[in-house]
Amino acid sequence: MSRILVIEDEQDLGTLLEYNLRADGHEAEVVRSGAAGVSRARSWKPDLILLDLMLPDIAGGEVARLLREGEPRRTPIIMVTARGEESDRVKGLELGADDYVVKPFSVKELLLRVKAVLRRHSDEPRGEQKKLAKGAIQLDVDRHEVRVSDKPVVLTALEFRLLKTFLERPGRVQTRETLLSDVWGIDADITTRTVDTHIKRLREKLGPAGDVIETIRGVGYKLTS
Ligand code: CA
Repeated sequence: MSRILVIEDEQDLGTLLEYNLRADGHEAEVVRSGAAGVSRARSWKPDLILLDLMLPDIAGGEVARLLREGEPRRTPIIMVTARGEESDRVKGLELGADDYVVKPFSVKELLLRVKAVLRRHSDEPRGEQKKLAKGAIQLDVDRHEVRVSDKPVVLTALEFRLLKTFLERPGRVQTRETLLSDVWGIDADITTRTVDTHIKRLREKLGPAGDVIETIRGVGYKLTS
């Protein structure tokens, strides 16, 4: 599931896009001005942005530039332009939009473009390792997805972080204190028993594949090497 931010001032179009993106399995949000778009993008960190070029406050090209400013992880942008905005379209692509669609467009076509851009973008290498695996377990960092024997397993955000931490450190013993500090954050007002409880729940969700997380008595846990 990807997060898609729609920056579009035409209310009907915004609603239509939001509805269809959600129906297609994405998380979608609509904002109706450039300024709101920039601020929402910074707080929500979407996976993709649909950006209308003709906005009431800031021109789309400028919005694209602001979105790019100081952003370590480049969020792909699809520009939405009206017919005849040729020069704006060129400007948009120069500013680093990944694709564009011209109004009026078919929703089906737009959804295909969204998929294509997301796929392309996830193929780009990044600093962080994005896909981790051990035995039957596969974890996809970008998609926030875990599969066991190719079947999706629903984890809480915390269980996900816990599993990710193990997969990143195969064969190394993780003390409860280390896990508390790396997974929960050192200031969390909880005891080391909480770690045990969550590991137990995580193992249950993973089924037999959960055996890769070994208990090291009196110390903590480790992922089998
Ligand atoms: Ca507009």
